[in-house]
Amino acid sequence: MRVGQGQAEGIEIRVAPHGGMRARCSVCQKPAPGYDRLPERRWQFVPLWGIATWFRYAPRRVECAEHGVIVEHIPWSDGKRPVTTAMMGFLARWARRLSWRETAQVFQSSWESVYRSVEWMVEWGLAHRQLDGVESLGVDEIHWGHGLKADNFLTVIYQIDAGCRRLLWIGKRRSEKTLRMGLQALGPELVKGLRYVCSDMWKPYLKVLAAEASHALHVLDRFHITQHMNQAVDEVRRAESSRLQAKNKDEARRLKNMRWPLLRKGSRVRGRARKKLNALLASKLATARAWKLKEAFGHFWKYKSPLWAGAFLDCWRQRAMRSRLEPMRKVARMLRAHEELLLNWFRAKGEISSGTVEGLNNKIRVVTRRSYGFRTYKAMEMALYHTLGRLPEPETAHRFC
Ligand SMILES: [Zn+2]
Repeated sequence: MRVGQGQAEGIEIRVAPHGGMRARCSVCQKPAPGYDRLPERRWQFVPLWGIATWFRYAPRRVECAEHGVIVEHIPWSDGKRPVTTAMMGFLARWARRLSWRETAQVFQSSWESVYRSVEWMVEWGLAHRQLDGVESLGVDEIHWGHGLKADNFLTVIYQIDAGCRRLLWIGKRRSEKTLRMGLQALGPELVKGLRYVCSDMWKPYLKVLAAEASHALHVLDRFHITQHMNQAVDEVRRAESSRLQAKNKDEARRLKNMRWPLLRKGSRVRGRARKKLNALLASKLATARAWKLKEAFGHFWKYKSPLWAGAFLDCWRQRAMRSRLEPMRKVARMLRAHEELLLNWFRAKGEISSGTVEGLNNKIRVVTRRSYGFRTYKAMEMALYHTLGRLPEPETAHRFC
């Protein structure tokens, strides 16, 4: 062992092969006669007392009867990665709690090493995960990066069973092709066993799910419908606000800073925001009417029977169509077009919880927005599987944290 001067050098541990033991082939792990020795390499090990630490070793090559001349099996190493498996496990676990950059800084490693460690852990996890017993899938689109190009969207597939909620698959774009690829990756066995699928009203998804998983009950997610409803109210508010700026400043002020109170559930708006909301509702503003329509729709989810829910939906739709508010009429038309899937919510009888997809979505946003410094799509994909995939971990990665 050589302890260098100062932290930059750290500790180097020179490893020598055990004299009495033969090297093993790295493929079959059977002992084999030695062939030659390769130049020394360094592997970063878990820092000791905060001091960067390396293993230094010259790997031997063996002549395996089956695999020919090949580098020996090195218990702390995996492939060409310059980091020991113990350190990869260590870094990868910390990379769930800290950003990748922070992880690299704190443990005197590099962003690249953290990335490779996460990748190593994720690849192992994906190869060893169990996909038995998946009954409910949620499919969703996620916006990523800047702009609205097709490449700025991802398709994610979640398992949303009560006992296990996790990310199963991610793919670029939100096209039919993407979702087809995802279902294929999960395998026909998994698709066959599905009882529920849950998605937004995004056409490519509806189409693929109808074709590939018609045996499962397709439910439109409540969270997404609420989102559409909120967007419509906000559209009404914005249009009205700019209309009023020109002619009626007093009324225009009423709409100012009302975005969040309007988007929240009525019963959750309290205090000063509530007073302002009440004043707004007492007015003859279009925004007030849009809000009341949105709030009335909340009742829909309280039904037990699809029959009564359907009757309510009819009434609500007529009211919305008479409202002369185009964004609200648009939502009403959309709900009519997807009425069957919408009523499947009640046929699923509470098997699908509305918060699940929303909760997973929020977690994805935390990961994609946290300053991981993702330079590539691939790195982000790794981070998402790593934090949300509930993947099994290799046992060889000793726990140091
Ligand atoms: Zn071999």
